[in-house]
Amino acid sequence: MRTAFILEAIAAVNDAVLNSEAELESLDREIGDGDHFINLKRGCAALLAMRDELAPLPPADVLQRIGMKLLSTIGGASGPLIATFFMTMAKVEKAGDLNSLAEIAAAFHASVEAIKQRGKADAGEKTLLDTLIPVADTFSRLTAVNAEPAQVFDAIQQAAEQGMLSTKDMVATKGRAAFLGERAIGHIDPGARSSQIIIHTIAELAK
Ligand code: ADP
Ligand code: MG
Ligand code: MG
Repeated sequence: MRTAFILEAIAAVNDAVLNSEAELESLDREIGDGDHFINLKRGCAALLAMRDELAPLPPADVLQRIGMKLLSTIGGASGPLIATFFMTMAKVEKAGDLNSLAEIAAAFHASVEAIKQRGKADAGEKTLLDTLIPVADTFSRLTAVNAEPAQVFDAIQQAAEQGMLSTKDMVATKGRAAFLGERAIGHIDPGARSSQIIIHTIAELAK
C-alpha cells in the first residue's frame, strides 16, 4: 500500500460523501437520528486537513493516524467502528508491508473482524457489516486465485452493492434502528450505504 494512494482515496471519498448528503441524511432520519452524513463529513474534513502531515509518513503510520483522528471526530456508533478498521489495518501493515493484493485482502478481512468484535455484531443485523463482510469475503476469495485486479475490484463493488441492498429487508438487532423492530424493514441501513459508497469509490480509484 502506498501513502500517495491513501491520500488520493481520502480526497475521492470526501467528494463521494459530500455528493451523497441528501441520501445519507434521509436514510439515517428514517431509521436513526439523522446525523450519519454530518458525522462522516466531519471525519472526511478532518482527514483532508491532515494531508501535509500525512504525506511524508509510511503507510502504517498514515493508517494509524487516520484511525485516531476518526475516533475523535466522527463520533456516534459508527466512529469507533470505522476507527477500529483503520487501526487494525495499520497494525497489519506495520507487521509486514502490504504489497500484494492478497496481503491487502487479508488485512481488510482482519479489520472487518475487528469491527465485528468491537461492535459485538455480525452479518444479518442491518449494519455496515452487511456491506463489509461480503466485500472482505469476495476480496479474499478472488485474490487467493490470483484474479486480475480489475476483476477483483469489479467483484468487490458488486458484493458491496448486494450487501448494502440486503439490509433493506432486515430487522435491525444492533444500533439505534434496533429500537424500531419491524418498522425498520423497507429501509436501507445508512452505515451499509455509506460503506458501500466508500468501497465503490476506493475500488474505482484502484482499478
Ligand atoms: P449513531 O447511530 O450513533 O447516530 P451514526 O449515525 O454515525 O451513529 O451511524 C449509524 C450506523 O452505525 C448504522 O447505520 C450502522 O450501520 C452502524 N452501527 C451501529 N451499531 C453498530 C454495531 N454494533 N456494529 C456495526 N455497525 C453498527
Ligand atoms: Mg445517526
Ligand atoms: Mg447520532
